[in-house]
Order: sequence, then C-alpha cells, then structure tokens
Amino acid sequence: MNTQITFADLGLAEPLLRAITDAGYEHPTPIQAQAIPHVLTGGDLLGAAQTGTGKTAGFTLPILHRLLQKPLANRKPGQPRVLILTPTRELTAQVEESVRLYSQHTAIRSMVMFGGVNINPQINALRKPLDVLVATPGRLLDHAQQKTLDLSAVEILVLDEADRMLDMGFIRDIRRILTLLPKTRQNLLFSATFSDEIRQLSKGVLNDPIEVSVARRNTASELVSQSMVLTEQAHKRDLLSYIIRESGWHQVLVFTRTKHGANRLAEKLTKDGLSAAAIHGNKSQAARTRALAGFKDGQVAVLVATDIAARGLDIDQLPNVVNFELPNVPEDYVHRIGRTGRAGAEGSAMSLVDKTEVKLLNAIEKLIKRPIERITIEGWSPDMVTAEPAHNRQNDDRPRRNNAPRKSAGARPANRAGEGRRTPGGQRPAHPGGQNRSRNASSSPARSTAAPRAALLGK
Ligand code: AMP
Repeated sequence: MNTQITFADLGLAEPLLRAITDAGYEHPTPIQAQAIPHVLTGGDLLGAAQTGTGKTAGFTLPILHRLLQKPLANRKPGQPRVLILTPTRELTAQVEESVRLYSQHTAIRSMVMFGGVNINPQINALRKPLDVLVATPGRLLDHAQQKTLDLSAVEILVLDEADRMLDMGFIRDIRRILTLLPKTRQNLLFSATFSDEIRQLSKGVLNDPIEVSVARRNTASELVSQSMVLTEQAHKRDLLSYIIRESGWHQVLVFTRTKHGANRLAEKLTKDGLSAAAIHGNKSQAARTRALAGFKDGQVAVLVATDIAARGLDIDQLPNVVNFELPNVPEDYVHRIGRTGRAGAEGSAMSLVDKTEVKLLNAIEKLIKRPIERITIEGWSPDMVTAEPAHNRQNDDRPRRNNAPRKSAGARPANRAGEGRRTPGGQRPAHPGGQNRSRNASSSPARSTAAPRAALLGK
C-alpha cells in the first residue's frame, strides 16, 4: 500500500492539481509536505532548503491557492499581491517560470523584474493588473522610486535564498523594501543556512514562524567522489583541458572565482577544441539563457560559472563538477559539489588547488569533516603541450563508472606524502613515455597547441 501523501491530500485547488499533474509530479517532496499545509493557513515560515529540494513549488503552490481563495474584484495595475524577492536574475526568471507553470490553468498574472535590461518594457507590463511579482531588490526599488510600482497591496512576501541576498549586500535594499510593504502580511523566508544574520533578519520580518528544514539531498555525499590535484595557477587551464579530454567528460560545470577568469577559461577550452561557454553576471540575459540551454541539451560540454551565476540555476545531477579555484567561503564548496551525485547517480567533484589555496582547502576539509583525496594526473605535465591524441589510447575507457579520471590511467590517488612526488616546478613527473610522445613539445603551457579533440566529447 502506498502511504505517501498526495498533492490532493494537501487540499490544493483543482487548477493547481491539474498543473502539478501536467508537470508530472506524483508526490510532494519533504519540504513541500511540510511547508504547504502551513502556508495555506496563512502562517509565517522560516525554511532551510536549497535549490533542488522542490522549495519553489513548496511556497508557490500554497500562495497561488490563497490568491484563488480570495479573488479581488478591482485590482489596480502595478499593484502585486505577492512579492517574491530573489538574489539573481537567473533565479528570478526560474521562480517566475515556476509561478507561470503552476498557475497556467488560472487567471493569475505574474511578472519578472530584474536589472541590467531596459526598464521600459517593465513599465509597460506594470500598467496591467498583476498578482505575483518576482524581482531582484535593486530594480524593484527603481520602480518603487519612479512610482511605476505600488507595493501597498502586498499580502505575501517571500525572501528566497535570503542568505545569498545578504552575501550580495542587499540587506539595505531589503530593509527599504520592507518599509514600503503593508505591516500586516504573510512572510516566508528561505535560506540555505541559518546564520546569525539570517536569524536577525528573520526576527525583524517573520511573526511567530514555524521552521522547516530539509537536508540537501546530498551534502558532500558518499555518492560524490571528491578529489583534488595540487598544481600551479599558471598550469590550471592546460591541466583542466587535459583532464576533460582524457576523461571524456561530456557535461562538466567548472567554477571560477571571477567573471573575467570564467571568460578566459571558456575561451581557452574552446581553443582546445572543447565546446565551452561562460555564464556570469556580465553576460546578457540572452547569452546566459543560450549557454544554459546548450549545456542542458548536451551541445555545450563545459559550462564555466561564477558561484553567483551558478547559484539557483536549475541544473543538478551533473556527472562532473570542477573547482578551478577553491571558493573563499567553505560553504560554497558544499553548494558547488552538491550539484553532482544527486538522485542516486554517482558524480565526481575535482578541485585544482595551488599553494595559495591550501588554507582554504583546510577550512573545507574541516567543514566537511573528511579529507579530500589527493590525486596526481598521470600522463600530464605542464611541459606536455600536445599529448598523443587521447582517442588513440583512451577511447575505451569512457564513460567511467564514477565519471572521474580513471585512477590507473588518468588520475592517481596520492596520499599527502605523495605530494612530495611532484617536481619543484609543481608538476609530478610525467607518465613514462607520456611526455615523450608529445609531438610538439614546448616548455610554455601558455603556448599550448593542443589539437582539437571534439571527438572525445561524444556521449
Ligand atoms: P526547486 O528546488 O524548487 O528548484 O526544484 C527543483 C526541481 O524539482 C524543479 O525542476 C522542479 O520542477 C522539480 N520538482 C519540484 N517539486 C517536485 C515534485 N513534487 N516531484 C518531482 N519533481 C519536483
């Protein structure tokens, strides 16, 4: 007998149930099962949940239900009943897409609002009645100041990824927005972690909230094989290119610390014959959407992203994640690698670490309470600019079970003492013969002439 509750058990309105069926959902996720009944009663909520848990439907469905229960006859244009604040444009767009999806069989109108695009189409859209507004804080305040938006009728406020909004310095904007809202309203706040700052913010925003918390489906999970390669910053780009080609990875999310670094790395990988794209805040919305779509459908094998751009992207269950640089905040490492190994699938998370990052590495290992396996990449040395085309000798070993470079042939575990095997230049001695097989050796990794090996990107 199936004892799992259903969406119908939660008492959601019929048009919403139909949309849920259309979306193919069978049962509420844990965050949905906890949050929906409480939000339906009008209570405030503090939720610890991240992207991938189903939290968006967890707050959107009961909100839509409440709007349907209390239709307003004379809605004024530009006066939303629900305000959902999120940190990034990607997340804003994704949340609004969910609102549209779940409200498709209703007359509820939603709108997305973020900066970096022309404000006039948004002003035009605000001339029509509006129920749910999904916005980033900055552009929202622009509209409020220009009086193209009226927040005095907001009944429900959602702060989504509140921790990230604080990280990004939105606290003052949020406080200003709060002063524009009616005092009596329902408030929902979601955050990956409950830091002191989040506790403080929630005290000022929430009234007698319930707390719901769902663990990430996988936090530094057993399913993710975590490894790191000690190398030098100057060699990282060549090394990464080599690892991707040798391992036949066809879908890898690479994290860099800076937007500039993301661009340069994507360009370098493209030059090396890999299909790569960068995604970050300086790219136009259209370029980012295109890159993401290409990555999802397999045309782009390597997506290079900054933490902020990657956060909230609806891409998970990836086979491979690479930290081109370690994040400054250890928790971000957990977010990053949480992109892989989900839903029972195995995944690999590899970090390229230089000596300036060892402190960060120690902090990460302290946080995840386990050492990250040190590996050396056999057959690679910074001097080796054109190894024998990998398909001549390695085609048979992809895909591998754990999607990691094969330890016997591609990457070899090294204990900490094993780091001593590296040469003073930072590289470990090349695989016997590997370097000799170079057709066009050069001492400068920057002058890599690695031949395009797009063939290796096969699925
Ligand atoms: P979120 O955590 O809100 O970003 O949702 C992550 C993904 O889970 C989205 O792609 C949703 O479409 C999907 N999802 C949400 N709720 C369910 C559910 N009850 N069953 C299956 N998939 C779901």
